[in-house]
Amino acid sequence: MVFMQKANKFVYVEKKYYLCSREKRKLMLTAILSQEQLHAVSDFISGHTRFAVLTHTSPDGDAMGSSLAMRHYLKDMGKQAQVIVPNAFPTFLEWLPGAAEDLNYETQKAEADKVLDEVDAIICTDFNELKRINSLGEKILALRQEREVPILMIDHHIVSAKEPPVAEILLSYPESPSASEIVYRVIHALSGAIGQLPSSCEIATCIYCGMMTDTGNFSFNSNYPEMYEIVGDLVRLGVNKDQVYNRVFNQYSVGRMRLMGYCLYEKMRLYKDYHLALITLTGRELYRFQFQSGDAEGLVNLPLQIDNVYYSCFMRQDKVASSEVAKANGAKTKIKISFRSQGDRPVNIFAHDIFHGGGHANAAGGEYYGKLEDAVKLFLENYPKYLKKD
Ligand code: 5GP
Ligand code: MN
Repeated sequence: MVFMQKANKFVYVEKKYYLCSREKRKLMLTAILSQEQLHAVSDFISGHTRFAVLTHTSPDGDAMGSSLAMRHYLKDMGKQAQVIVPNAFPTFLEWLPGAAEDLNYETQKAEADKVLDEVDAIICTDFNELKRINSLGEKILALRQEREVPILMIDHHIVSAKEPPVAEILLSYPESPSASEIVYRVIHALSGAIGQLPSSCEIATCIYCGMMTDTGNFSFNSNYPEMYEIVGDLVRLGVNKDQVYNRVFNQYSVGRMRLMGYCLYEKMRLYKDYHLALITLTGRELYRFQFQSGDAEGLVNLPLQIDNVYYSCFMRQDKVASSEVAKANGAKTKIKISFRSQGDRPVNIFAHDIFHGGGHANAAGGEYYGKLEDAVKLFLENYPKYLKKD
């Protein structure tokens, strides 16, 4: 039986049924912004006309979702807004509304610099340290010296006491699972109801993508009811959540799928006394599997599916990009390191102290400029100091 009725009625499609309500009701959420913060953000947006929206290096779903949602909102407010990413984003995020217009600071530097030289305000999402955006960070510091371009930062990473964020307004919520959720809450507070905005569906889609990816499709950091009220609102605004899932998680190349099998079958080492798994990949191995940017995404999570494995580390060899030469200090290769863990087993301190990185308690990362075997050695020497045995 297939029949459909108008909004606010049950719609029967074969044996499934859905409640279809397009009612534009205002969602009541816990206010995370004080009135003072809200006024400051509102004045920041109304007081400027040309914005650059920046997000972190190797942009993931949350980086892309939070920056693009902000860009759509600014455009709806009649502003000029350009997203600039420090380097390429993965192909499985190309479909995000507006992503095709992003500028890549590695490959489109001249064009991006031209935009930056003309902006009168900057919004940063999903990071709080300018070193996380490599040479784009140096450009921003230079701009601020020249003409004091103000920055609004919206983030969910812990703020370093040693290196306080460079920003006039900092909206920092390390307890929030995604920067995209904070952007939702900011736009919701500023606009009353996102449904009234011309780009409401685009904004909602970008935000949903960020919330979904930073929680592993709502499988971690996702245990509070308000998150699902927001998801409900996003679906009401037109997000096709099943399609977003398919576009992000079911888009692997054959090489990526085989690489996954290779990692698990040949490359995974287990340190059972610490419930730990380590996977490493050399540049040669990546080449063998026709590695593309984004292909390593999610590999670090796989060992956590094993009973009694609570920590996972993934290392891969990478080239030193032109924007990282200063950081590399003569090293020819860079090792990108990812950590994941479950429950009360933080990995961000390990990432911070040993691999100049950081992140969240259960998802962190860092980097090592030098040889893969030296990074592994450092890892093996140090993990017993940072990880729990039971
Ligand atoms: P991923 O393993 O997906 O690259 O990163 C997981 C999380 O770790 C990111 O959301 C970010 O918070 C953090 N992270 C990854 N790499 C770095 C890094 O080099 N420096 C810092 N500070 N954080 C990182
Ligand atoms: Mn994030």
